Amino acid sequence: VSAIEDFCRDIGDVPVVTDERVLRLRSRDQFAISPLLRSALAGKSADVLVSPRSKDEIRRVVAAAARHRLPLTARGGGTANYGQSVPLEGGILLDMTSYKGVLGIKDGIARVCSGTVVDDVDVALRAQGFELRIHPSTTTHATIGGFVAGGSGGIGSAQWGMLRDRGNIVALEVMSCEEEPRLTELRGDDVALVHHAYGTNAIITEMEVPVAPAWAWRECLIAFPDYISCARFGIALAHETGIVKKLISIQEWPVPQWMRALNNVVPDGHSMANCYIAPQSRDACKDFVVEHGGTIVADHASGENPFGAPLFEFAYGHGLRQLQKADLKFTGLQGLFPAAGLLDTIAAVHARVDRSMPMRLEIFYSQGEVVGMGSPLLTFESDTEMARMVELLQSHGVHVANSHTTGVREVGIKQITDRDITFKQVMDPHGLLNPGKMDFGTEIERNLPTSGWVFRRAG
Ligand SMILES: Cc1cc2nc3c(=O)[nH]c(=O)nc-3n(C[C@H](O)[C@H](O)[C@H](O)COP(=O)(O)OP(=O)(O)OC[C@H]3O[C@@H](n4cnc5c(N)ncnc54)[C@H](O)[C@@H]3O)c2cc1C
Repeated sequence: VSAIEDFCRDIGDVPVVTDERVLRLRSRDQFAISPLLRSALAGKSADVLVSPRSKDEIRRVVAAAARHRLPLTARGGGTANYGQSVPLEGGILLDMTSYKGVLGIKDGIARVCSGTVVDDVDVALRAQGFELRIHPSTTTHATIGGFVAGGSGGIGSAQWGMLRDRGNIVALEVMSCEEEPRLTELRGDDVALVHHAYGTNAIITEMEVPVAPAWAWRECLIAFPDYISCARFGIALAHETGIVKKLISIQEWPVPQWMRALNNVVPDGHSMANCYIAPQSRDACKDFVVEHGGTIVADHASGENPFGAPLFEFAYGHGLRQLQKADLKFTGLQGLFPAAGLLDTIAAVHARVDRSMPMRLEIFYSQGEVVGMGSPLLTFESDTEMARMVELLQSHGVHVANSHTTGVREVGIKQITDRDITFKQVMDPHGLLNPGKMDFGTEIERNLPTSGWVFRRAG
């Protein structure tokens, strides 16, 4: 009898799938967005998928995995774009989506089960006049646990900063992977141990997240005759603390033309700022746009624009998706443009690249400062060319994460300290959680010469 059969027997009536076709499908995430990962991860598959419905069932699954020494990879919505939830060594795929629900909202904090779809959390919150501070552009499919374990920020970061910034995750209840799984509640700076660790050091069961007032957001597209004016506006808007906003995404012409749905909205040759503005700030924003030489070319209530999707699906990773509809070879890099001299850095990179590589950046807060994230849009030809772009960005002081690899350390968004190593050893003594994604004691192998993002505080 194989270990998998023993495992299935031990977990009793927890729903299980062993159909190979389903397993292959569910063992993928959105890594195909990266041309480098497309081939590297082809064919990786779990041996069994389990969908526990309660904390007790999760505990049963985790205990049995530890007893039989089977690899265990958590999966939320499977929307991660670096293959984070692909089981590199087979074993068990722990589908968290049946463990869902909003458990309570009190004192500006929501307590939720980690398998809840992000948008479902927002629907529950809005009934009480609140919403999440930050959501990913994948909000309709991603789970809140997957966002915290695999994501970094998103819509809302223009006001609140990145997920890693203090206060954006209140608490994480996590389970260790042992024969007798333990539950621990992490608070304060300790939440950083599990955030962006890809489920390699604990399974998140419940979490507490801060909420914000729910506004009837305006989705605005603002056109500028040149990219530097657009960038200057985007940075200034972020600094304008009295204007309440949720998204500032600045995209150079011809990106608006290549995003088919926006084709005739932004005038020829114009770059666009894609912004979410609270209704209370609409008039102030209009004057601010005029002062910066821009023109508002679209202004709709959320859910009422004619573009076939909310405007946040034309920013972040979704912006790239829109572009890949026109050419699958389009790709990009996750450059973090530091706060100091931000506009000068953007202008310097802009001056170095060919206009067939238009700039795409999101502007938001990180550690209380306004930064940019993104890169020129690349048409993937070879690793060598992509490496050249990494070097060009880094030569201008841009910190580049490797969005084309699966390892936590190789990606370079989470800074690993001795505390992380100890925590991993304590929570996952048999090394079963999402194996291959966070290995210590080995040289970091990089397929690109990235040096990773830099922050003042580890985590
Ligand atoms: C088009 C596109 C746009 C995107 N936009 C954004 C964006 O705006 N902001 C952003 O941050 N990211 C973005 N991403 C990346 C991804 O959507 C986010 O990381 C997302 O929130 C992941 O949630 P998920 O439930 O799909 O997680 P999954 O893909 O299922 O998992 C992500 C990681 O978390 C782990 N995990 C899942 N659940 C748990 C749990 N309960 N306990 C422990 N570990 C767990 C998995 O093992 C995996 O390593 C985007 C991706 C795509 C393809």
